[in-house]
Amino acid sequence: MASKTSGSVSRRTLLKGGAIVAVAGGAAAYLGTRGGAPALHTGAQAGRRVLAYIKYRSELPSVEEVVMREIGGRDVVIRVEACQACYSSVTASLVPGYHAGLGVGQPVPAPTRATIQGHGCVGIVEAIGPQVQKVQVGDRVVTCQQAQCGACYVCLRKRGDQCINDQRFTFADFNGMEVIGSLGGGGMAEVTVVPEEHTVPVFTDLPAAQLSNISCVGSCGMGAASTMSPVEMASDVVVLGAGAVGMTAIQTARIRGASQIIAVEPIRYRRELALKLGATAVLDPNAEGDGLVQKIKDMCTSKIAKTDRRFAGGGYVGPDYVIEAVGGDRMKPKTEAGPDPTGVLPLQQGWDLCSSVGTYVTTSIGQPWDAHVQFPAANWSDGAKHHIPGSMAGFNSRRDIPRFVRLIETGQFDMKALAPKEFSLNRTKDAFQLAADRTSMVAAVLPNG
Ligand SMILES: [Zn+2]
Ligand SMILES: [Zn+2]
Repeated sequence: MASKTSGSVSRRTLLKGGAIVAVAGGAAAYLGTRGGAPALHTGAQAGRRVLAYIKYRSELPSVEEVVMREIGGRDVVIRVEACQACYSSVTASLVPGYHAGLGVGQPVPAPTRATIQGHGCVGIVEAIGPQVQKVQVGDRVVTCQQAQCGACYVCLRKRGDQCINDQRFTFADFNGMEVIGSLGGGGMAEVTVVPEEHTVPVFTDLPAAQLSNISCVGSCGMGAASTMSPVEMASDVVVLGAGAVGMTAIQTARIRGASQIIAVEPIRYRRELALKLGATAVLDPNAEGDGLVQKIKDMCTSKIAKTDRRFAGGGYVGPDYVIEAVGGDRMKPKTEAGPDPTGVLPLQQGWDLCSSVGTYVTTSIGQPWDAHVQFPAANWSDGAKHHIPGSMAGFNSRRDIPRFVRLIETGQFDMKALAPKEFSLNRTKDAFQLAADRTSMVAAVLPNG
């Protein structure tokens, strides 16, 4: 589908059912269809009442009405179209007693603030602070889980995914508590507010739910295969874990021209989908057991040179790239569980099976804090194996999100196959339950219907 300018596409196509009622300062304003939904504001925000899925004590989150504060500076007000239910947040939504940073059953201090759940979103800009340059009212934007200011120490050193100008701030109130957004503003709300460092305008009419995959999991998976260690053509790639992150890495490796892509995944329907999206072979880690590492090494040996003769280009052992996207189980899945619920085993296997001059990219989270992986000291110190860590894998959002959108539009990246199941804001908990169960690839909440 061809890309169009925001002026011709966004307001009619994207603001579903929103009737344009006024034009002020070059920006359209509209009224939403839901009775209580706020009209588009280009000016004052203070006092607006919007619904948001918030967590404000150790019990489960709920949909509540919050009252917005005034904006300023580089703030961007976004009417949320869709927000993906990230697996890493399922605990907060589904486990009573869980409090982020404290774990389950720990004493929880009296709540002083509430957090809108969700890791970034896609939506339409409704209002901007006076210093905003990147986006305009009416723009469609992806809000990134991670800010990228382009100016700080780490942004200037090619790790925009670790930007230190990542600020969460209070933009609403609820029952005397401050309301902040989770990562990327927390998209489980009718409206959210982020600094412009979290936004990237996207000039496309792709379905919102599909675009919401980009904010967190998609950025991570694409970054893992294309940013810090771009997969080279004719290479051997192993992807451990074919969830939303791994499935994005598989497709990115295919687009970059890898010749062999081996996906390791315990869930049958995910292995089958991986084969459709670019994996050339799939392995079930439960079935392979202790033989998994050697089997993959054998599958990746002498594939390019077609010989093990060392003076004829042969002799390497193992894949050129290993991308790990497993992580610890937050909850017991309702599908096939992997061999290690802590996620430590695949982390170790990834290191072990990677070629001695290969690159090992790790993206996962959720392992127990006291768990360890082991490397032979001499090999770790003096070997030539690269390790690239970081849950966003070096993704350069300002550069890579427009690329991502283009790849989807041209059909090079199949996002339809990863299209989330859609839920209303009132069913946000169900979306997280689906993510926890792993009975579907992805779930997304569409707060404005
Ligand atoms: Zn996330
Ligand atoms: Zn920065």
